[in-house]
Order: sequence, then structure tokens, then C-alpha cells
Amino acid sequence: MLKSEKCEAGNGKCELAKAIRQMCEEKNAVIMAHYYTVGEVQDVADFIGDSLALARKAAETDAKIIVMCGVHFMAETCKILSPDKLVLVPDLSAGCSLADSCKAEDLAKFKAEHPGYQVVSYVNTTAAVKALTDVVVTSGNAKKIIDSFPQDAKIIFGPDYNLGSYINSVTGRDMLLWNGGCHVHERFSVEEIAKLKQEHPSALVMAHLECKGPVLAMADVVGSTAVMLKYAQEHPEQREFIVATESGILHEMQRTCPDTMFYPVPPAVSEGGVGCHCNECEYMKLNTLQKIYDCLKNESPSVDVDEDVARKAVKSIHRMLELS
Ligand code: SF4
Repeated sequence: MLKSEKCEAGNGKCELAKAIRQMCEEKNAVIMAHYYTVGEVQDVADFIGDSLALARKAAETDAKIIVMCGVHFMAETCKILSPDKLVLVPDLSAGCSLADSCKAEDLAKFKAEHPGYQVVSYVNTTAAVKALTDVVVTSGNAKKIIDSFPQDAKIIFGPDYNLGSYINSVTGRDMLLWNGGCHVHERFSVEEIAKLKQEHPSALVMAHLECKGPVLAMADVVGSTAVMLKYAQEHPEQREFIVATESGILHEMQRTCPDTMFYPVPPAVSEGGVGCHCNECEYMKLNTLQKIYDCLKNESPSVDVDEDVARKAVKSIHRMLELS
């Protein structure tokens, strides 16, 4: 998706955004931003998307420099697919609780304990985990890819337990599930959605597949961020949606569907209460205009992946791109 030329940011941020775009031209750089980053970062980017769209764009671009405004595993995926490019990140400490829930050494041990199993990993994993993986999936293509395996295939699925559980239920499989999760999506509760439903009875509920089973069970639309966006765009007659995923997605939803109302689901009260921004991913929010400017100017910090790890990891990513 192409960036918006319009700058609505205040406090000198429009000047910063212009300086960033100018530096991109001078240095032959592209900026990629995930839907969960703040609006002004999405607005300055060349491409915005979910993990799969960004991985595809990273593989296609002719630019010399990629600035990945997302989290660390996304920059690693870019580097694996484009080893000759300089992959910059605005903030090296932008991690991911889901990726952290599966360490490569733990997965290697689990694999050794389960001979004959193939490993299917969600894209939210480190390069080292992808190197131990047979095929990578995203929330957008997981079902399609699992469907391509013989029904009796032995599969270890990780690290997102909720996504694996959902795929087991819709494919009738019994994959072994890693017990990992995303701290943002784990916080959504049926009680908070029910409250919003009472306030907005005509609204449809959309939920990301990283949410818990009971939340998915009460949703009208379940899927990746791309699926949710597409649904809203293709159903202009539906004027209200309750959205259970990271609240950054509302920026793109509102931009592409200006006449529709989107209500973000707050986290369960016990998780934070009034004023809590727990439906935001603090890692994604580390990406700021100032940090984008600085990393482009300094051409640092950059992300590198060990050659041997990258050689093994690229096979599992390519297999996903072929199958999806
Ligand atoms: S929202 Fe969750 S899965 Fe996505 S980057 Fe943040 S911690 Fe990771």
C-alpha cells in the first residue's frame, strides 16, 4: 500500500516527515511500517501492511536500504530475504512477547523429543527459531498452509497457542501446540466485548486469531489484520465494528473507511483499568518519526542475521511464500 502524501502531525512533525522522505530519496531507502505502529509512522512509510505483506515487499524492493518500523523479528525476516540490503530499525529494543515465548534451544529440545514431527512456526519468531522450522505461517495463511499437509501429518505448531488451537479446531487436526502467546491479545476478554456490544448493538465484532478461544467464539469476523481491513472495506453498509486487536490498526481502518465507526476493545479491567493503554503494543510504539530520521541519517542501528541461520531460515520462509 502506498504512503499517504498528507501530513496531519503537529509540533514540527510535518517538517520531520518531509526531511525523512527527502533522505529516503537521497539514500534510495524505503520505509516499511506495520499496522500496529503509530499513525504518523504509518503516514510517512512507503508501504504499510501485516507481517506477510511486509515480508513480500522486502523481497521485491530494489531499494538499497530498508527501514523496518515494526519489531525485531520483522527486521530479521527482511534481512533474511534481502541479505544484500542494509536493514535499519528505529529502535533495536522493539521486541515481541510472542517471539520471546519460544527460545530456539527449547524448540530444538522439543523437536528432539518428538522425532517424525514437522515444525510449523508463526512468523512472530526469531531467525534462530525459523531455522529450526519446516514452514513459516502468518495468521493470514496458517489454515491454507496446514491444509496442504496430509491429514495424518505429525505437526508441532508454535509459538502462539491461541492461533494453533483455532487451526486445530477448523482443520480437525491434533497438532502439538507450543504454549506461547502475545501479551496484548491475551488481555482481551469476553466481558469487555459484551459491554461494547451492549453500547453498540449493531456493531460486528472483529477479533485477531491471537485472541483467546472464548473471544474468537463471540466474533463475527476472525482473521489477520489484513482480513479485518478487507472485510470493513468490502462491507461499507456495515457502519460499526468492535475491534479486538492492537489499536494501531484503527488508523488504517479509519483512513480507508472514513464513514465507518471502529471501537477498540479495551483490555480486561483487571489488566490495567482506566487510562491503561494495554491494547497497545509498547514495542510497536517505540517506532517514532525522530528515531526513523536518526537511523536513516546514521545508517544505524541495523539488523544482521548469522549466515548459517539465515541459510536455513530462508527455506522455511520461501516455503510459506510458495504455499500462500
Ligand atoms: S502485538 Fe503482540 S505479537 Fe504483535 S509485536 Fe506486539 S507483542 Fe508481538
